[in-house]
Amino acid sequence: MSATGKCLCGKVTYRLASKPLMLDVCHCKNCQRQAGASFIPFVAVPLTEVEVEGTPKVFMDDDTVSGNTVARHFCGDCGSPIYVGVARAPKTAYFTSGTLDHTDHLVPKCHGWTSTKHEWVTISDGAPEYHQDPGLQPEGVREIQAVAE
Ligand SMILES: [Zn+2]
Ligand SMILES: [Zn+2]
Repeated sequence: MSATGKCLCGKVTYRLASKPLMLDVCHCKNCQRQAGASFIPFVAVPLTEVEVEGTPKVFMDDDTVSGNTVARHFCGDCGSPIYVGVARAPKTAYFTSGTLDHTDHLVPKCHGWTSTKHEWVTISDGAPEYHQDPGLQPEGVREIQAVAE
């Protein structure tokens, strides 16, 4: 069971060897800015299971709260964000679920960076919420806790 997706203009297309099921929903300010929207849901996919056609541009986003650089791959023609990569998960690509062709089966696994969530967005899916980085919080920062366990 594979999955396919593409950018808005279709110059960048991709195929994932297995069908992703879970979403990491990111409410961070940088994702909001890149998408021009209130959040980006991502599916995490092993890079070995990814085939991308076309030539996405890459923006190295190093002005992040966490200090981690995020490689943001997007279509240089229509601007669709396609996937991101982070150095601490070098074997994983995080694809934007909005570019997938089929999305009915997807369910949120967690919500990250709810500290910058748009006020009108109400999370009601029961997935754990993290004020900052889900699962990868900096050492010693105690106020960063999952709201729901
Ligand atoms: Zn495009
Ligand atoms: Zn984000």
